[in-house]
Amino acid sequence: MADNKFTILHTDSQTQARIGKLRTAHGVVNTPIFMPVGTRGTVKTCTPHDLVEIGAEIILGNTYHLYLRPGHQIVQQAGGLHKFMAWKKPVLTDSGGFQVFSLGPLRTITEEGVEFRSEIDGSKHFISPERSIEIQNALGADIIMIFDECPSLPSDYNYLKESMEMTLRWAARCKEAHGNPNQQLFGIVQGGMEKSLRKISVEKTAEIGFPGYAIGGLSVGEEKSLMYETLAYTAPLLPKDSPHYLMGVGTPEDLVYGVSCGIDMFDCVMPTRNARNGSLFTTLGTVKIRNAKYKTDFTPLDPHCVCHTCQNFTRAYLRHLHLENEILAHRLLTLHNLHFYLSLMRGIRQAIGRGTFAQLKGDVGALMQLGQVQEKEKTESRTVRTDSRKTQHKPDSNRKRRRAAI
Ligand SMILES: [Zn+2]
Repeated sequence: MADNKFTILHTDSQTQARIGKLRTAHGVVNTPIFMPVGTRGTVKTCTPHDLVEIGAEIILGNTYHLYLRPGHQIVQQAGGLHKFMAWKKPVLTDSGGFQVFSLGPLRTITEEGVEFRSEIDGSKHFISPERSIEIQNALGADIIMIFDECPSLPSDYNYLKESMEMTLRWAARCKEAHGNPNQQLFGIVQGGMEKSLRKISVEKTAEIGFPGYAIGGLSVGEEKSLMYETLAYTAPLLPKDSPHYLMGVGTPEDLVYGVSCGIDMFDCVMPTRNARNGSLFTTLGTVKIRNAKYKTDFTPLDPHCVCHTCQNFTRAYLRHLHLENEILAHRLLTLHNLHFYLSLMRGIRQAIGRGTFAQLKGDVGALMQLGQVQEKEKTESRTVRTDSRKTQHKPDSNRKRRRAAI
């Protein structure tokens, strides 16, 4: 069923790409969008102010981690995740399923749910679809996810089929358990790399009915060509009028490919994790900042980037900070990588709107720069507005000064 919270503004004539607006309880998100990952209630090294500055519109929180520490009740007491972490824009939480299933021998799956031992202190926990919704309701994200099983690869056909069918039953239970109209509950499509299972999963999940649909179980170790094939098959099957979210993917090229298949939302730890490991996305390709050739390189990390890091610091300095394991290295490199991803998505939206996406989709650097032009224009118009506001406020401050003098 079409959901009025998502509006498609324009669909590309040559690919499945589209631009849209997704309305949430904490504001509107422009799609296609990348969501920086804030696993434990923080996008590592970034303040909410930093995230707003680089153009983040929605971030992701991890239910499993926040449930274990500090505990969802504490986040709820704080007034929800937004208030707890001082982030005013939209948040999406995953259901915890992916992390729980990644625990391997530490967990037992039954029809009822999953029992697992905490990797922190060995304590026993049980998460069912209902419990996952209860936890996500307490965290208070704008978009929450059904509790699904994400089977590890390789899994045989029968296991994938049974797992996908259980995820469908869990999806129905999640929908039944969820009662907060301020949180949109998205369904998740599974089925491994088996097209017939993906098709059934899409049809049955859409039958249950959700305001948005995610593709899970991709980018879990399979060959990239197989991932692309499964994505290109599955994404066009999703209900057209709803937002499509590709979970845990990927590189800048993966994002462009996903958009061309009709994906609207992405999340991935890659820009933040790679930054902390000294691996940077630039318009000239990947830069490994620890490389000796940057020792006396006093040029910016990316000559075409307008981020704070590239506008103020050299490769030589960033290399030095990184090798010394200085906290500032993590921060500056994270800001650049996230800025790269967010600019790329702005550029993609711009290109779709102008009808040039199909032409530019092979050139990530050009799309990223296109996103920066748009950002620069916005910043300039914001500066003009700020200036005019300052002028308007002048009389007030003069009055204050006069009062103070009296
Ligand atoms: Zn930069």
